[in-house]
Amino acid sequence: MSDHVRQTEPFRWDGIEVRPYKAVGSHFAGVTRQVLFEGGDGLACQLRYFEIAPGGWSSLERHHHAHAVMIVRGGGRVLVGSRVFDAVINDLVRVPALTWHQFRATDSAPLGFLCMVDCERDVPERPDAAALAALRSDPACAAFLRV
Ligand code: MN
Repeated sequence: MSDHVRQTEPFRWDGIEVRPYKAVGSHFAGVTRQVLFEGGDGLACQLRYFEIAPGGWSSLERHHHAHAVMIVRGGGRVLVGSRVFDAVINDLVRVPALTWHQFRATDSAPLGFLCMVDCERDVPERPDAAALAALRSDPACAAFLRV
C-alpha cells in the first residue's frame, strides 16, 4: 500500500473498498466498514472506519480484545458496559475487554468513527438470553438496545 492514500470524497479513500460491516445478520443495520490500515511493519493493530447510516446500529457484542474509537462524522449514542451516552464528533470512546458495546446513529445523520483494534483478535460474542435480560434490567439500556 502507498505511503499516502488520498481522500477521494468525504470519508472515502483512494483504493479502499467500502465493505459490508459483517457477512450476514439482522443484528445490525446500515453499517459499512473500510480498513484504512491493515497492520504490518511491526504495527500489530488495524485502523478501520465504520459508518452507520441514520437510524442504524452496530451489533451488540463483546470480546476479549479492546477498541479505541474516535467519532469523526455526525454523532449518535453508545453503550459501553451498562452505560449509554451521547457521542459527538471528535469524542473518544474506550471499549475495554469483555464489555458489551453497541453504537447507534441519530435518525438525522450518519455516525462515522475510526476504530483501532488488534490485528489478532477473538471473534465477537453475542448476548444470550440471560446476558440480554441483565442488560435490559437497566431502563436506559433497555430503551437503547437493538438486537
Ligand atoms: Mn466490537
